[in-house]
Amino acid sequence: MECPRCQGELEELSLGDVSTIACPHCGFADVPVEHVRESEQPESWREAFNRFYEQ
Ligand SMILES: [Zn+2]
Repeated sequence: MECPRCQGELEELSLGDVSTIACPHCGFADVPVEHVRESEQPESWREAFNRFYEQ
């Protein structure tokens, strides 16, 4: 695969069961973390609320 930004060769990275491609040449990354970010955010918000109510 080629980088859409610099046409360099992309590296495939895998984190657990999530894999992504990144370009080591220009730093481009096609990171499919939006789904992960969305599922993590409510969790941290809930933790923040819990901390707030505990005080
Ligand atoms: Zn690139």
